[in-house]
Amino acid sequence: MLIFDAHLDLAWNAVEWNRDLELPIEEVRLFEKQYTDIVPGDCTITYPEMQRGNLGLVVATLLPRLHRKEKPLTFYQSRESAYAASYGQLAYYRSMTAKGVLKPLPTGAAVAKHCNVWQEFLKGNGERPPIGYVLSMEGAPPILFPEQVDEWYAAGLRIVGPAHYGPNEYCHGTGSFGGLTADGKQLLKEMDRVGLLLDATHLADESFWEALDIYTGPVLASHHNCRSLVPGDRQLTDEQIKALAERGAVIGAAFDNWMLLPGFKKYVTPPEDVLLSRVVDHIEHVCQLTGSVRHSGIGTDLDGGFGREQSPGDLNTIADVQRIATILSDRGFSDDDINRIMHQNFVDFFVKHLPSV
Ligand SMILES: [Zn+2]
Repeated sequence: MLIFDAHLDLAWNAVEWNRDLELPIEEVRLFEKQYTDIVPGDCTITYPEMQRGNLGLVVATLLPRLHRKEKPLTFYQSRESAYAASYGQLAYYRSMTAKGVLKPLPTGAAVAKHCNVWQEFLKGNGERPPIGYVLSMEGAPPILFPEQVDEWYAAGLRIVGPAHYGPNEYCHGTGSFGGLTADGKQLLKEMDRVGLLLDATHLADESFWEALDIYTGPVLASHHNCRSLVPGDRQLTDEQIKALAERGAVIGAAFDNWMLLPGFKKYVTPPEDVLLSRVVDHIEHVCQLTGSVRHSGIGTDLDGGFGREQSPGDLNTIADVQRIATILSDRGFSDDDINRIMHQNFVDFFVKHLPSV
């Protein structure tokens, strides 16, 4: 089955973690055994594994964050550095595109066509296609001033998640409390003007509600679970899920263990305590709360700074995301519902909301 993963930090992994994502996963894991003091557990993502799991379409981020052992050192000291690092990541996507490994999907037509090519391939027609990606930014500091959205849009950016961890120049993110700054309000108006989609993931509650008031365009939550199942500000409240559904959003279920099991402790919680079925619990909750399967999708975040030590115990690589379809089927979801959750909801969202051509 085709999978649409609405949140991967591929370029960040390649550029900042120095991962060659074209290699077989065992080779990457072996290479990284040389510096286990900074790299966490075994990585779960390479292009061969994405292809093996039929992850044909993704949202790929520009992530202005460093990879350092001490938390305070993981942010850029200047926005200009973050801006430059993001262009470096963009150059990585462009080089992988030139090589035919990735394919940018900047329009609704491109998303529809690429989905079709994959569906045909899965029926046995044609060669294995590249991985298509919609370009996103996780944390907006690389947008140096709100009006700079024109430059980023021209560069191919289509989605902005203004927040990541803590406060930034535009808003408050996970682990911090507060609303949008004056620049943050202006950024959302500029995003509306150029047609950049809003990713609500990581917005602190107050910033979330203000953003939904000011921004009038399409909203998604790329990698986001449910607070009623796992307490904490990183998850969406039921009220937020309902508000997103009313805006036509799709919410990608995240596969990071601390967003799946309350009180998860890395290297302490036994792997069998957090299985893929927990991801499906979150998907089911969104479906039940909204009374529809149209707002649930997949947004794994499996390369978001962790490896197997913080992923569901029955997941070895991203190819195992396929098992979500089996679990959904075991729980009584119809084939049509499963298709929607695994890819079609996000495909429809982008076909509808990206520029048509
Ligand atoms: Zn994230």
